[in-house]
Formats: sequence, C-alpha cells, structure tokens
Amino acid sequence: DSPVSVTFQASDEKNENILRPQYLEDFQGQKQLKENLSIFIKAARDRSEALDHTFLVGPPGLGKTTLAAIIANEMHSEIRMTSAPALDKPKDLAGILTNVTENSIFFIDEIHRLKPALEEMLYIAMEDFEIDWVIGQGPSARTMRIPLPKFTLVGATTKAGAVSTPLSERFGINCHLEYYDDEELKNIILRSAAILKCKIEDDAASLLAHCSRGTPRIANRLLKRLRDFADILSDGVINTNIVKHGLTKLGIDSNGLERQDRNILKTIIDFYDGGPVGADTLSISVGEAVETLEDFYEPYLIQQGYLKRTPRGRCVTAKAYELLGINIEGRKNA
Ligand code: ATP
Repeated sequence: DSPVSVTFQASDEKNENILRPQYLEDFQGQKQLKENLSIFIKAARDRSEALDHTFLVGPPGLGKTTLAAIIANEMHSEIRMTSAPALDKPKDLAGILTNVTENSIFFIDEIHRLKPALEEMLYIAMEDFEIDWVIGQGPSARTMRIPLPKFTLVGATTKAGAVSTPLSERFGINCHLEYYDDEELKNIILRSAAILKCKIEDDAASLLAHCSRGTPRIANRLLKRLRDFADILSDGVINTNIVKHGLTKLGIDSNGLERQDRNILKTIIDFYDGGPVGADTLSISVGEAVETLEDFYEPYLIQQGYLKRTPRGRCVTAKAYELLGINIEGRKNA
C-alpha cells in the first residue's frame, strides 16, 4: 500500500472517528447540498456506475472529509484518502491511482496544493481513466498508457480560487459547504453529547451552538472541553453557567470570537487605521501564518460582517469598532 494514502472501508471501526456521521441522514445542515448529493448517489448506484467526480469547497471544519467518507458509505464502496501536500512525486499519485478499485472513492484534501506535474496526471486520470507513465530515460524512454478502473475523485479545498480552471472543470458535481446556523449546530452538539454520554441542558446547547463559529469541528471540540469543566467543577452536567465559565476561560466571547479574532480586528484598527492592509503584512503583525489567517480567521469575520476584503486589502467595518468598544468617529477625527 502507498505510504501517502490511507485506505479503509468507510465502516472500519479502527479508523472511525466516533463523532463523524456515517450516512447522509445523520449529516446535519447543508440541506440543498445533501438533497442533491443523495439523488446523484442513488442514480449512480442504480446504474452501477461510479459517481461523477465531486468537488467540496468550504472553510475548515465544516465537514468535507466527513462528506467524502459518507459518499463512500452511501455508494457501498471503498475510500482512499490523501492530502495534496503528501503527494510529492508523480509516482506517489500513480501509485494510488493504479490501485483504486472500480466505482471506489479517491479523496484528495487541500487539492489546491497539488503540484502542476501531478495535476496534469490527474486531468487525464479523471477524464480518460488512464495515466501516461514514462519508462526509462533519454532516447530509449517510452510512454506507457495504463488504464484505470472507473473511480470517483473527491477533491476538497478551502480555496476554490486557488484551484486551476482545467482541474475544477473536470468535476461534475460541485458542493459548496456553508457555515451552519445555530439550530443545526445545536443538533450536532446534542448528537455528539449523546455519543459521548455527556449531559448537556437544552439552553446550554443553544448557547454553545451560538458560540461555535458556525463550525461543527469547533462545536465538538468545545463540547469536549466543557465536559471537562462540568466534570471537575460541577456535577458533570453542562448548564449555561458552565458554558459561560468555560468559554470565558477559553477566551471565547458571546459572539463565538476567539482572542485572535479580536486581535486581528484591533490590530487593523490600531496599526492601520482600520485598513486597508495586505494579508502578508497583517499575518506578520498578528503572528499568524497567512494560510491560517486567510482560510480560518478571515472567512468567519467576513461572514459575520466585521471585516471586508477590498482590492487594496482588508478593512474592518463599523461593527468591528462596536464589538471592541472603540469610538469610530473619535478615531477618524484623531
Ligand atoms: P478540514 O478540511 O479542515 O479537514 P473538514 O471540512 O474536512 O475540515 P471534517 O473533518 O469533515 O471537516 O469535520 C469536522 C468534524 O465535525 C467531524 O469530526 C464531524 O464529527 C463534525 N461534522 C462536520 N460536519 C458535520 C455535520 N454536518 N453533522 C454532524 N457532524 C459534523
């Protein structure tokens, strides 16, 4: 087996993250996406064909990896998972492609980071289900065409804009994952609490949902930490007091913003008069990698209306001044 991919039957207990929903019906939210996907999957299954190549786009932690595994489960097929940065040489990708099975799923996370030579190999694999492999060197080199079984490529990215047009055009199914609303997150929290056998009161689940940045991964992570606070400081039941206490200790405010979110906004106001400021400069000022700034922090701050991206850089909005208790007029007149 290639060391750059992980293969498992999606139902394999050993690799199962217990909080990951296994089937579409347990996957909360993303209603339209789920509805469409379930039709495409049923249609492909009824025809005993591979599902069309599927592109999953959205900020981190919204369920792209989970969806890829769900697609495999719903297709009753095997899944191989890898991430573009783990694929260094053409032989890494060829090694996986020549081992995929008929109608199975091949998942590539962070597909925008695929190297150009590998991307070219992938185009042909996706379109013609074959790869060209060069054997030997110099004048004696010859190209061998290797046929591949019909498989489904599921590519995931946080940055749709960074994926080349020829690659993105080869996906027949496009899924854009959106931030979850409070009610959807509450359902995820209640489901996770039941799996973890931890008790959470209804209004505490609502409050936690509201502070989870619209992101299931964060909701699940905070739930586990609040369970720790409840177990050690109280009777093990998560109530609103535990949520408020725990979130304060974790540096999360009542809007679900973290210290670094507020730091980013405050830095733009204090050092750059509210903006515009470029991502590279801002990343140095706040001590955060540009990738993390762009993929994790900014999308939520923009979605919540605290930040704007303009052609000249990032600017805060009046809502950011209000959040930080800074008088916008006073600043402008200073
Ligand atoms: P990344 O690209 O950063 O890996 P991701 O988008 O692939 O993120 P996942 O790892 O699939 O995110 O999801 C994070 C966690 O959130 C999973 O462990 C899963 O339990 C939970 N989760 C995600 N989406 C849902 C959902 N719709 N319903 C229930 N749980 C979910």
